[in-house]
Order: sequence, then structure tokens, then C-alpha cells
Amino acid sequence: MNTRDELGRALHDLRISVTDRCNFRCTYCMPRELFGADHAFLPRASLLSFDEIARLTRLFAGLGVRKLRLTGGEPLVRRDLGQLVAMLAPTHGIEDISLTTNGSLLSREKAERLRKAGLKRITISLDALDDATFKAMNGVGFPVAKVLAAIDHAAAAGLAPVKVNMVVRRGANDQAIEAMAEHFRGTGQILRFIEFMDVGTTNGWRLDEVVTAKEILARIDARWPIEQAPPNYPGEVAVRWRYRDGGGEIGVIASVTRPFCGGCTRARLSAEGRLYTCLFAATGADLRGMLRGGASDEAITGKLAAVWHVRRDRYSELRTAATAAGRKKIEMSYIGG
Ligand code: SAM
Ligand code: SF4
Ligand code: SF4
Repeated sequence: MNTRDELGRALHDLRISVTDRCNFRCTYCMPRELFGADHAFLPRASLLSFDEIARLTRLFAGLGVRKLRLTGGEPLVRRDLGQLVAMLAPTHGIEDISLTTNGSLLSREKAERLRKAGLKRITISLDALDDATFKAMNGVGFPVAKVLAAIDHAAAAGLAPVKVNMVVRRGANDQAIEAMAEHFRGTGQILRFIEFMDVGTTNGWRLDEVVTAKEILARIDARWPIEQAPPNYPGEVAVRWRYRDGGGEIGVIASVTRPFCGGCTRARLSAEGRLYTCLFAATGADLRGMLRGGASDEAITGKLAAVWHVRRDRYSELRTAATAAGRKKIEMSYIGG
């Protein structure tokens, strides 16, 4: 079945947040002043079990979902994520399972286990190459070397090419753009620059802290000439560029300056089982209540389809300074990227 929303967009991808907890406190996501020791994370019993996630995935696949991404919070703080991957991988219709992680808990063994369980691709976030900048941005003093080691573990385990996400925030790490590009050039790993987004309401987002994709690309091009590469598939979020000298490719995710809502085929499931149809939504449909209330597969499928059918989200295309500041929105650490 091919389920389409009001703007004609198919339901093709599902992002599954497996926890709202994280061992980092990135300034742009979970600033430590607001996510302190007294922060109320979801209690364990509210989280969807692996069985519940697997059941929903099967029903989503029946409506057209082909790609899964596991995210969080930090997905690797959830115990035995490999088991979940192993449960999801055989789902009829699912063609691709990927993971977004900060890499801090990724050992070589864990990377192997995830790959053997059926993980196809991995994205590891890293915002700078110098410890002073990175430690300040991750909020917990986590060193760069350990994330670089995680990238190597992932590649060695067969999860290459590893994608590396760098959120660029002016005044925080924009000076690190060229160093990051230089480091990953020629390694086969794909660095993606992400414009700082106004997700949630806690990260103090300001338009003047967004370094635009245009500026990022101009700076890279000035050092190492680049040319645009065609998308790998329709609706790809990152725009691909390649070095003209054969040094590989980079990507830019310009959600602020070049929104891509028209091709947005992503549904998002929170760790407690709420379905969101946009990263910037304020409310989500409660699926856990249905799962735990004994609803049939048909009833849950009907709910998923109904939510998708009436979807009209295109927040980034409509974003203005007023909507960015004034609106209640879910947090990135709650719903994932
Ligand atoms: N903890 C994992 C990680 O950091 O990779 C997965 C969850 S994190 C919310 C997913 C991605 O969203 C990361 O690459 C992170 O850098 C990015 N992100 C978080 N807050 C952001 C923001 N305000 N603007 C742009 N990207 C953001
Ligand atoms: Fe944690 Fe990822 Fe958010 Fe950083 S971006 S605080 S690592 S969830
Ligand atoms: Fe999709 Fe919402 Fe982002 Fe637009 S703003 S691309 S609809 S998640």
C-alpha cells in the first residue's frame, strides 16, 4: 500500500527514537543548564518495548515504510540495541536500517554486533576536531579522539562509508569547518554540514547563529574546488557535493535556508510511542495507548494511515523569526534527528 498525505507525499521512512536520555549535553540540543540532574526523563515503563517497536514497524511497513533510522537521545544508551536491530531487520518490506549516534559508546564489538544484526549504515555526530571546541559543544568534556575511534570501529565493522554529522553554529564551531573537511577528505567517510535548526525551545536558537549552506560551501570551495553531485535517491535530505580533485564527497543539510518539506516522507516515533509527522510538531498521536489497550493490527494501521492522510506539515518552508521563537515544539533529544 502506498499511503500519501494531503500534499501527495508518500510514507516512506520511519525514524524511531529509542530513548530520550543522552550522556552528552550538546549546547544546541540538550543544554546542560536546562537538562540538569533534576530533569525528568521518561520512566522506563513508558518506553516502548522492543516487541512493541517491532510490531509498529511491521504495521508501518505495510503502509509503505521502507527505511528505518534508530535515533534518540543517544540510542546506544538503550541496552542491547543490537537485539532490536535483529528484530527489525527481517520485517517484510524494510530495505534499510541505519543508526544516528554520538559514537561515545560504540566499541568495535558493538559495531560488529550491530552490523551482524542487520544494521546497514551509521551516522556519527562530531562537531569539531579540537578538544576545546568539541568538549564545550558536547557539554560533558567528551574528547574528540574517542569519537574518531568510533568512526574507525564502524568502518572496520563494515558500516562504511560512515557519515559524519557536524552541526555548525556561528561563534561555537564555525571556525572548524575547513579542519573537519580536511580531516575527512580522502577517507571515504562522508562529512555532512548541518545548519543549526530551531528545534525545540531550549537551545536559544537565533538566526544569526545559523551558518548558511551557501557560506559553508563557499568556504570549502575556496580551499578545495567542489561540484554538485546528483542525489542518491529522490527526496534526499543532504545535497551532495564532490571535490573536483577526487577527494570524495561532502553533504549539506540546509533545513533553514533551503527547506526540503516537499520531499519529506518521514514519520517519527518517540520513545514513548507517539507518532509525529514533523520534526517541529507540538503534538503527536498516542500509539502506546493503543498497543497496551489491546488494539488490533487493523485498528493501529487505520490510525497510522489516518494520521498520515491529514498531514500538511511544512514547517521549514513557512518558518519565520516569529514561528521559530514563539511556538511550542518538541525537543530534538525527545524525537531524534
Ligand atoms: N544522540 C545522537 C547523535 O547526536 O547523533 C542521535 C540523536 S541527535 C538528536 C540526531 C542529530 O541531530 C545529530 O547529528 C545532532 O547533531 C543533530 N542535531 C541536534 N540538535 C540540532 C539542532 N538544533 N540543529 C541541527 N541539528 C541538530
Ligand atoms: Fe545527545 Fe545527540 Fe542531542 Fe548531542 S545531539 S545532546 S549527543 S541527543
Ligand atoms: Fe519534514 Fe517538517 Fe522538516 Fe518540513 S519541517 S522537512 S515537513 S520534518
